Amino acid sequence: MMCGFCALEFREEEGIVGCVHCPVSCGKNMIKCPRCNYENPPELKLFKKIAKALKTVKSEW
Ligand SMILES: [Zn+2]
Repeated sequence: MMCGFCALEFREEEGIVGCVHCPVSCGKNMIKCPRCNYENPPELKLFKKIAKALKTVKSEW
């Protein structure tokens, strides 16, 4: 995946997963960038999928 802040590409396993310092475990599956610590929401994947789908739809038209 790619960090939405510094554009560093890293594997999800390499990122810091979850709210480690969250006092109330809020259950968010944020994946923190190992370089800048930016919390990347997992929804980014979905957006990519939607963008791809839209592109394929457009090219088919
Ligand atoms: Zn980053």
